[in-house]
Amino acid sequence: MDLRGKTALVTGSTSGIGLGIAHALARAGADVVLTGFGDALAAVEAVAAHGTQVWHLPADLSDPAQIEALFEQVQQQVGRLDILVNNAGIQHVAPVERFAPEAWDRIIALNLSAVFHCTRLALPGMRAAGWGRIVNIASVHGLVGSVGKAAYVAAKHGVIGLTKVVGLETADSPVTCNALCPGWVLTPLVQQQIDARAADGQTVTEAQQALLAEKQPSGAFVTPEHLGELVLFLCSEAGSQVRGAAWNVDGGWLAQ
Ligand code: NAD
Repeated sequence: MDLRGKTALVTGSTSGIGLGIAHALARAGADVVLTGFGDALAAVEAVAAHGTQVWHLPADLSDPAQIEALFEQVQQQVGRLDILVNNAGIQHVAPVERFAPEAWDRIIALNLSAVFHCTRLALPGMRAAGWGRIVNIASVHGLVGSVGKAAYVAAKHGVIGLTKVVGLETADSPVTCNALCPGWVLTPLVQQQIDARAADGQTVTEAQQALLAEKQPSGAFVTPEHLGELVLFLCSEAGSQVRGAAWNVDGGWLAQ
């Protein structure tokens, strides 16, 4: 896989899955724009160790105006965008009748609307350049529900619908758009859910095993590295006729 000369933007790449995907893209030779909160400097240094150019551009992607500003900065500082990985996402767990409306709005803004805004802003440049890849990190929760996750499940189902439409609208072009649908991946987003169970009396190990046993028949976590390799496949020539797909990577979760 040779992505030298290509530039990728991976949203939410200071941590977890996004950081793993940024590593995979940089290892394949792509220059990478990182976004996200937390220790951005550490993320930039780690990804830059692969020898490509790496930027961190700060933006709160739940705000459409900040997304527009981010894309202007990409245009000015980086100059091109060949690969967009829409990954930034958050979770909030509560039954629907006690689900805070502000939490609903925050999740829809980041997990769904930001995917729309980044896509609409990235596409014209990709079409003009005659090549592009958009990969949306959805979730198994884009294909099935789970209790307590009304906003997350609604947003991720929306991402899969959007992926199909963009996949169709680009089907006659060298730009593709697909979604990956991971099961449990051990990242800070999932660690919060494990910690919440541990606070109810289980050890962290018991809580991890219980979480996996409920949904993921393999009993093992999917890793950011697994997802990074799939993004590379979607960027390859062999991946060029995968269009509008929602590809689950879930240790068997959806086979049940
Ligand atoms: P994470 O918490 O490790 O990382 C989330 C990233 O998003 C971080 O870089 C964070 O700074 C960034 N972010 C958060 N709010 C933001 C905002 N308002 N603006 C810009 N960036 C923001 O989470 P993760 O588990 O790596 O999740 C990444 C994606 O994968 C999410 O879309 C999530 O829904 C999806 N996913 C995760 C799992 C899992 O098991 N971890 C499973 C399926 C899908």
